[in-house]
Amino acid sequence: MMSDFVTRFAPSPSGLLHLGHAFSAFCAFEAAKTAQGRFILRIEDIDTTRCRSKFEQIILDDLRWLGLEWVEPVRRQSEHLDDYAATLERLNAMGVLYRCFLTRREVLDEIARAPHGPGEVYTGPQIPMSKDEEAARLANGEAFAWRLSLSSARDYLGSRWDALCFVEQGHGPKGEHGTIDAQPQRHGDVVLARKDIQTSYHLAVTHDDAAQGITHVIRGQDLFESTHIHVLIQALLDVPTPHYHHHRLINDDSGKRLATRNRAASLQDLRKAGLGAKDVRDMLRAK
Ligand code: GLU
Repeated sequence: MMSDFVTRFAPSPSGLLHLGHAFSAFCAFEAAKTAQGRFILRIEDIDTTRCRSKFEQIILDDLRWLGLEWVEPVRRQSEHLDDYAATLERLNAMGVLYRCFLTRREVLDEIARAPHGPGEVYTGPQIPMSKDEEAARLANGEAFAWRLSLSSARDYLGSRWDALCFVEQGHGPKGEHGTIDAQPQRHGDVVLARKDIQTSYHLAVTHDDAAQGITHVIRGQDLFESTHIHVLIQALLDVPTPHYHHHRLINDDSGKRLATRNRAASLQDLRKAGLGAKDVRDMLRAK
């Protein structure tokens, strides 16, 4: 009998999978198997500047080689841009978004100039842009991002803001476990639609977790912080907050976190070196 447990592995096809990805995929896959639930594969390919379909093909092939099986069809975020646009429109109608025309450099300057001393995150303009200026910039064809206004979100949610929380079944990087108060303010006014791609990781991932009925999000601790903002977006969209399980990150032999930028050996490299899927599992167990 199938349970209602649904989890996912959600790689971005911007490079090859390495052991860290394999660990994440196994954690989710094994959890679904143990719970007699479903394991979903989602390709997070909204960032067309970095994602390549050749990587997607290799990822699917690597995961099959590892012995993982998932529910078909695989969801590709690039095929759902209209859904993200509609969700953005919904949030905009709620009055919790604003257009931000700043460049990355200007955002950093604003953060450094914050009235209460330099902050770490962007907390919005000191004075909201006038409707006239906004119209003029739009008429001028200036590119803008959509940011989530934390102060408007707080007003919108009222007392629900103070109750924002999530259940952590694994551990955050500082050992966080159990029911955790969500603190979206740690992120400031995040971008929900980038200038170039009209959506963002935060928007697409929360939309899809809800659309796909994900009950358990199982992923690396590097994404623990993002949960604080995901919980807020879920409350605004009135969708359930899944349970979260953030797992430890896999380090290489020198103790450095495995990441493509650290030139971590890819699964492709390991396969070429003659390793089998069982060897990979054994390697992960030993890490
Ligand atoms: N696509 C994200 C990544 O590859 C993972 C998103 C998630 O699990 O929430 O880092």
